[in-house]
Amino acid sequence: MKIKILGTRGEIKVSAPKHSNHSGILADGKIMFDVGEKKFLSLDPKYIFITHLHPDHAFFVRNWEKFDRPFYAPEKYELAGNGQVFNKKINIESCKITSIPTIHSIKVKSQGYLIEKNQKRILYTGDLIWIDKKYHKLLKDLDLVITEASFYQTGGVVRKSRDGRIFGHTGVPNLTKLFSGFTKKIIFVHFGSWAYKNMRETRHAISELGKTYGVDAILGYDGLELNL
Ligand SMILES: [Zn+2]
Ligand SMILES: [Zn+2]
Repeated sequence: MKIKILGTRGEIKVSAPKHSNHSGILADGKIMFDVGEKKFLSLDPKYIFITHLHPDHAFFVRNWEKFDRPFYAPEKYELAGNGQVFNKKINIESCKITSIPTIHSIKVKSQGYLIEKNQKRILYTGDLIWIDKKYHKLLKDLDLVITEASFYQTGGVVRKSRDGRIFGHTGVPNLTKLFSGFTKKIIFVHFGSWAYKNMRETRHAISELGKTYGVDAILGYDGLELNL
């Protein structure tokens, strides 16, 4: 399976040459996960899966734009003629895609995607605090996890609503620990402003953190291509 990372910048103002695009990855040149930038559509994806309807993952919700391409998402978007709610499995282009609910926001629903092809298993998550334990059995023996890096500090920034529901992002150490139980390789994307102060130091910090949990932890960048 070919994976191309299209964007690695979170919902922040700062930018850097290899970390300027908002979220998106492309599998086998045809299946796109998140469309954080309108220009990603020029790659002409045959299928689109959205992790959640925040603008850095679905550019069209930023200004309530119409979006007419067919796509799958955890919930309906009013201004999309061809949006489909997707919360199960689908077989396309010799890949099996499975949605995995994630905890992130109280205003929008969110989910990651397990992508399987030729015995390879990749998990792509959007933003998250946690994945409920009942889904952990789906995460066994992953060849790669691509996940977010909004906050470096342990615990990230997690808030609680009046009715007791949590929202926000956990920290990179928490995600490294969580996914080290399921994979040997993690690529971090969706960087918060902490990462932009010095990208070399960020790369080093991520790699060292990976070592403490026994995984290969890598700093993703816009345009990074992998073959699995
Ligand atoms: Zn985001
Ligand atoms: Zn989000």
